[in-house]
Amino acid sequence: MHKSASVVHPAPRARVQAMKEYHPPLGNRDAMRLDFNENTIACSPKVKEVLGRISAGDLTRYPEREPVERLVAKHLGAPPEQVVLTNGVDEAIHVLFETFLDAGDELLLPVPTYTMYEVYASATDARVVAVQANDDLQFPFERLAATITPRTKVVAIANPNSPSGSIATRAQIIEIAQRAPDAVVLVDEAYFHFHGETVVDLIGTVPNLVVARTFSKAYGLAGLRLGVLFGPVELMRWVRRVLSPYSVNSLALACLPSALEDTAYLDWYVGEVLAARAEFEAALDAAAVRRWPSRANFVLVGVGAQHREFVRMMLAGGVLVRDRSNDPGCDGCVRITIGTREQMREAVEVMNRTMKELRTTEEMR
Ligand code: PMP
Repeated sequence: MHKSASVVHPAPRARVQAMKEYHPPLGNRDAMRLDFNENTIACSPKVKEVLGRISAGDLTRYPEREPVERLVAKHLGAPPEQVVLTNGVDEAIHVLFETFLDAGDELLLPVPTYTMYEVYASATDARVVAVQANDDLQFPFERLAATITPRTKVVAIANPNSPSGSIATRAQIIEIAQRAPDAVVLVDEAYFHFHGETVVDLIGTVPNLVVARTFSKAYGLAGLRLGVLFGPVELMRWVRRVLSPYSVNSLALACLPSALEDTAYLDWYVGEVLAARAEFEAALDAAAVRRWPSRANFVLVGVGAQHREFVRMMLAGGVLVRDRSNDPGCDGCVRITIGTREQMREAVEVMNRTMKELRTTEEMR
């Protein structure tokens, strides 16, 4: 018997049938890429050198994760058993949810937040409990804490959060972890470098705290897919059971040591973005465009009902930005990644032209 007219047999699990399709707009991106919060320039030249030295023979081997995990652990000042490398933070999220979320469990999320938490949770038999931020899009600490139940099994906190750029404080994270002792509290520090504050030093001390980091943003290695999950040994051993031993490819593993070593490149890029962010925020204020304060390499702006036209006109001017108006509480909002000062000055020119045109058509209506 057919459960759903559109499902061809063999049918997937009911939860999978109910999943929404998620297609981020990754096509046709030959423009200034201010849409995916990537590094907008390049990775370290030292990483590029490593790639150039990889031979055809090297590619015939299966990748070995452990030696590079030891190196990352040393870099983080942690025992290697606490560190797991993954195929981007996305895989870390996926595996963590597969490991800890069972039927009837709850994933607690402040929203708006990173889309993939909900996507991966929807493939499990757990329930997503979303706590909506106020209009200021600040971390809804009190209400999130009040929503913890004995069924709360994972709390996912992107810090800084996307698309808002807002943050949770260290004290708030500790309190959430204490009030949800049976839950894994995932602090996703994908944008750590632009914020500068971390809770990695609490790993092991706070027994249910797990931290994720990525090489996709400041390091400029989104294409290599490298993430790190960092947590107490007792939790990481379960994650390791679920994770494929081969999931991080050998190119990524070969490049990671040089990426970590080249701190001068990382510092330069982060410094450039922070300077550009301050300039760009000032330009938004000068143009009277609503913005939310950001501690990340992007800024959420409110352009109102004409958000689609805004995105289209920015692209016509050579600048890709991301429409986030479908995110909960983000009606009329667009997220703009921060690149270098030079790039952002160009983006400001395109934005000012766009706003002027939109405001003129608005007045004519
Ligand atoms: N976490 C957050 C909060 C993000 O915004 C992103 C990237 N968009 C990721 C994780 C994914 O990182 P990765 O490329 O390592 O999978």
